[in-house]
Amino acid sequence: MATATAFDVTAIRADFPILGTTVHGKPLVYLDNAATTQKPRQVLQVLADYYESSNANVHRGVHYLSGRASDLFDLARDRIARFIGAADSKEVVFTRNATEGINLVAQSWGRANVAAGDEVLISAMEHHSNIVPWQLLCAEKGASLRVIPMSDAGELDLEAFGRLLGPRTKIVAVTALSNVLGTVNPLADMIQAAHAAGAVVLVDGAQAAYHLPVHVQALDCDFFVLTGHKLYGPTGIGVLYGKAARLEAMPPWQGGGDMISSVTFERSTWNVLPYKFEAGTPNISGAIGLGAAVDYVTSVGMERIQAYEQELLAYGTEALRTVPGLVLVGTAARKASILSFVMDGIHPHDLGTIVDREGVAIRTGHHCAQPVMDRLGIPATARASLAMYNTREEIDALVSALHTARKVFG
Ligand SMILES: *Cc1c(COP(=O)(O)O)cnc(C)c1O
Repeated sequence: MATATAFDVTAIRADFPILGTTVHGKPLVYLDNAATTQKPRQVLQVLADYYESSNANVHRGVHYLSGRASDLFDLARDRIARFIGAADSKEVVFTRNATEGINLVAQSWGRANVAAGDEVLISAMEHHSNIVPWQLLCAEKGASLRVIPMSDAGELDLEAFGRLLGPRTKIVAVTALSNVLGTVNPLADMIQAAHAAGAVVLVDGAQAAYHLPVHVQALDCDFFVLTGHKLYGPTGIGVLYGKAARLEAMPPWQGGGDMISSVTFERSTWNVLPYKFEAGTPNISGAIGLGAAVDYVTSVGMERIQAYEQELLAYGTEALRTVPGLVLVGTAARKASILSFVMDGIHPHDLGTIVDREGVAIRTGHHCAQPVMDRLGIPATARASLAMYNTREEIDALVSALHTARKVFG
């Protein structure tokens, strides 16, 4: 029986045109959401509308269309600021993606604040995007990269974290949610401990942003990054949140138009936040599209999305356990709807190919987190990652395809 708060997945699915696709004669079952999510009509329409009726460059023009594009662009920033719980829209810097946000912090904040002998602390479950920028910084500065270890289940060792924190720790850069294991990390406690040790904290929110409600002020993180294409928005747009005081104190990263307030051949002065970090023409349509995506998930409700996905996770976990020889990878007590697994005697890549014949899209490989594979002693996993539009029937389709694979490989 439908209630006012019932999660109407059928209605939600109707908003996503691509979900009607047929693959190899079978209905598409899209379970690769941790790589990118599909886009609702509400986002697609806003993108088309923007180019049809508002396209112009922002911030410069006195003409009508430029004013209109600028308004839409500013509104999108306001919506995103509200969505993540920022104190002010100027704390929201548009980037290309989460990766660019992390690189911005590593190169602007990092070069100014990390010196020889200092330490950068990350975790064993980071995406390459939250490893490599810090390796580059450490190599440049003679600093060292330390790693918070994790258990076989995929939970961070918080005692070890406490021991690793010290006077040399300049920054703790940690994911809110593992894209391989689904683990949800206890960020509030970790951030408090890091701050007590005098370290700054960057949260990689690329996965968290579409699975859980996020409130950066409640978390008290110094930096937070997300990527639009995983939050039901367009590709090529992301967000770096930074506390205003931190961003103010940081040197610019890229130079160019929009990020300056004056330029002579002798010197230039910098624009105010957030424009100081937005050199060149921004991804205007992308930002507006991401604003529409944020409106969409807000109208559904992040708490309700989370609750629904938790039901799917519980159902999927049980269902996968019925497949002979299947072992789940990532069994943390607190996790989101990401199901990684391996199967006896079948390489994940072969598994991915077989289930694709059944219309089921999963991802196989190291998921841009090779150190997680090394830690667990496996070359790769298969990963089914669930979003708000997935259903129990789709999980059944996956499980049935895996049974087929089992038969093929014996
Ligand atoms: C996807 C992902 C990233 C990188 O996102 P981009 O859009 O490629 O920048 C970083 N961290 C995590 C946890 C991710 O899942």
